[in-house]
Amino acid sequence: MTLPSRAIQIAAFGGPEQLKLVETQVGEPGPGEIRIRHEAVGLNFIDVYQRTGLYPNALPLQLGMEGAGVIEAVGEGVTHLVVGDRAAYASNPPGSYCERRVMPAKCVVRLPDAISFEAGAAMMLKGLTVQYLLRQTLPQGGLKAGDHVLFHAAAGGVGLIACQWARALGLQLIGTAGSDEKCALARDHGAAHTINYQREDFVARVKEITQGVGVKVVYDSVGADTFMKSLDCLAPFGLLANFGSASGKPAPLDVGVLSKNSAYVTRPTLFTHIATRERTQAMADDLFAVVTSGAVTIRIDQRYPLADAARAHRDLEARATTGSSVLLPAG
Ligand code: NDP
Repeated sequence: MTLPSRAIQIAAFGGPEQLKLVETQVGEPGPGEIRIRHEAVGLNFIDVYQRTGLYPNALPLQLGMEGAGVIEAVGEGVTHLVVGDRAAYASNPPGSYCERRVMPAKCVVRLPDAISFEAGAAMMLKGLTVQYLLRQTLPQGGLKAGDHVLFHAAAGGVGLIACQWARALGLQLIGTAGSDEKCALARDHGAAHTINYQREDFVARVKEITQGVGVKVVYDSVGADTFMKSLDCLAPFGLLANFGSASGKPAPLDVGVLSKNSAYVTRPTLFTHIATRERTQAMADDLFAVVTSGAVTIRIDQRYPLADAARAHRDLEARATTGSSVLLPAG
């Protein structure tokens, strides 16, 4: 049996105009797979990299790496999900911009009843990323309450989750953002300090806030525009985690520059962290616990019908969004 599914695909890499609504047919799940009907789909900056070809994939490509909905069918050997379960996931390869899809069950977890489909769709890729950044991507000796960390793009989807989770951990998060309004939003969500990096020198401000010491970790997803300056914000033995390239890829690094303060640099990705079902479930349990406790709320500031994915991409690239965005198949 096959079922119809409207989906957003690209036939060529390029701008948002490449995003086309197509009619597809979805079949039964094979061994180790499930079929999910989406209630909401998460929008992520990584979708932009895939649309432009910065992160290459085979064409035609159905974009999207995050979603939530109801399990419609379960393949042989899948034991942790049953038909009718509320579920959510972050997945690689992409394909969530659609009404329903067949996908590997190991990426998919049950969604607690207390968490809405929209929040589930917005929090899996972004929230699991914050989980591995703040809980697993740590400097020598780890992080403890009171430590300073610098988090770029703090008012975005990943950023607002990070602000709140850092506050819950007792960290002094210094957040950068591209406007005073975004800075205020980051402070409302737990950033101890904010810097408008469009008009302020963030290296100087970090030195001022930390009384010349620098931060233990910089979490940098902006890339080209911030990477080298982020290194200058580190305390001795500090860690720079470059986990994205919203402004473009950083220039190649001469490791000699790290000798200035014995710094560490890493370039982590979520998909190494969630390579197995066990790790995915453990990280999701940690995320669901901070969300159901109320310590972290998933703020959705933009909602678009699935068919309007191109408008959603334009807004994201124009830095016109705050918090998370979702695409709604029924919208
Ligand atoms: P955001 O909602 O944070 O949107 C990106 C933000 O980056 C913008 O709002 C903008 O904020 C900032 N930015 C800075 N420079 C630019 C620029 N030149 N063009 C566009 N935006 C710019 O996106 P997400 O929450 O989806 O993702 C945040 C980052 O995390 C992305 O870089 C993404 O690739 C990365 N990521 C990495 C993962 C990993 O495992 N490696 C997993 C998930 C996300 P402002 O105006 O305040 O500067």
